[in-house]
Amino acid sequence: MPIDKTWLTRPNRSSPEYKKGVSDFIELCKTQLNSNGDVRCACKVCHNTEIIPFNTMKHHMSVYGFCKSYKIWSYHGEGSNPPGSNPPGSIPPGSIPPIMGKVQILPVHTFSDDMRRR
Ligand SMILES: [Zn+2]
Repeated sequence: MPIDKTWLTRPNRSSPEYKKGVSDFIELCKTQLNSNGDVRCACKVCHNTEIIPFNTMKHHMSVYGFCKSYKIWSYHGEGSNPPGSNPPGSIPPGSIPPIMGKVQILPVHTFSDDMRRR
């Protein structure tokens, strides 16, 4: 389901639509935290160049406002894996580069071996 971003273009940051949009974005960010609890900040100042603590990001959103040019939230999971295409940086099927040097056949270690020991 596409995310409604019409609020992004609203000049009035105190409008209910804008506040709803920002809170939706913050909800989305909760799913995008790294292991330190930090998230990429999409405020007008950071422009997705800074990875900062979640609470600081929320503060930036209310103080600076959302970066209006950030319309596809690709840094926050949106559109990263649309059907029929590959996420940025991935290798398309059929163009896997040959492994350099000698190919080693490693002994197969399966997870079921580990599970049996538990
Ligand atoms: Zn920021």
